[in-house]
Amino acid sequence: MYRDPSARPADPPLSPATLAVGAGRGGEAGDPLNQPPVFASAFRGGGDRGYSRDGNPTWAAFERAMGALEGGAAVSFSSGMAAATALVDDLAEGARVVVARSAHVEVRNLLAERFGRGRLELRIVDAADEAEVRATLAGASLLWLDALSNPTLEVPAIRPLAAAARAAGARVVVDSTLATPMLVRPLSLGADIVIHSATKHIGGHSDLLLGVAVAADPRQAEQLRERRSLHGAVPGTMEAWLALRGLRTLPVRNDRGERTATILAERLAADERVARVRYPGLADDPAHGAATATLDGYGTLLTFTPHGGVAGADAVCEHVRVITHASSLGGVETLIERQSRWHGGDDIAPALLRLSVGCEDPDDLWRDLSSALSGVAPAAAAARISAPSP
Ligand SMILES: *Cc1c(COP(=O)(O)O)cnc(C)c1O
Repeated sequence: MYRDPSARPADPPLSPATLAVGAGRGGEAGDPLNQPPVFASAFRGGGDRGYSRDGNPTWAAFERAMGALEGGAAVSFSSGMAAATALVDDLAEGARVVVARSAHVEVRNLLAERFGRGRLELRIVDAADEAEVRATLAGASLLWLDALSNPTLEVPAIRPLAAAARAAGARVVVDSTLATPMLVRPLSLGADIVIHSATKHIGGHSDLLLGVAVAADPRQAEQLRERRSLHGAVPGTMEAWLALRGLRTLPVRNDRGERTATILAERLAADERVARVRYPGLADDPAHGAATATLDGYGTLLTFTPHGGVAGADAVCEHVRVITHASSLGGVETLIERQSRWHGGDDIAPALLRLSVGCEDPDDLWRDLSSALSGVAPAAAAARISAPSP
């Protein structure tokens, strides 16, 4: 099996922003600065690579960079859900999984499906309630948390929860898709594995699907690599190359998005057309204290609920022109979506809108949002951006 010889943990003194730009490069004098995409299913015999389902130099460069950023050994997958599935499939038959209610809906669906088939025991907990999590951990094999949850924007106390899980003999997985390594490195807080849907902030341009799991223990990473080879949920070369290219600008995209998200959250909070705003960066947000304690920032996602119920929320999605009405998050372009169109549940208000803030000018975004909240046609200039070319 192909092993990447240079994968190693981060040099501690370098900041995440520096690692995002520089980690994973290698090569000799005269080599390209970046790992080029290697399109190959097979490699010539006699070397340490055989068949591409076991490894590819393009994934390896992405994995070196992610491993350095998170401080562990990274294994990339064809999607975030493929990474999650590999972890769930690593559990013994009948294992007990404790999952935060705020964990990503598809991960909860995956666990519920396995539970429904009698393969797992499942406990769903409020991750903000440390006592409840502790009480459920006895006999558990796995605790699953989201560092910053989508779309409920909760921030669990990773360090004490990871310590409690470890004491109970359970492994801790943190889905850090929304937080990104710019806001938190969960392995440094005691988690065993951190996963990302690299489809989102890491890729950053809404043009790929990719997942990655980073394990503190290299033996765990090796097991995941073997599972990936066996199950075949391997990344595409082009996706891995694009994701590494996207990762290089994550620090600036994150800074810009967070600054704009703060501006928009403040303006929405002061706007009488809006019933409720959630952004952990607002001082009176329920997650502000937890986010300040655990994260190095507040992220680029906010939610708000306009007056006028579901119809009012849908009207906002129909009227935006600079902002795009679309699912997903973490790209350079600002996206809006009414979450309960797809996923119901008691914790998501029917009229709640999720705004994934990108890199556009904050005033242009605000003017667009403000006219959409009034249900009026956008200014001619804003209409032009989304008009199909003649
Ligand atoms: C999108 C997402 C996933 C699933 O990732 P895919 O790449 O779509 O398979 C998992 N967790 C979170 C938090 C996500 O936002």
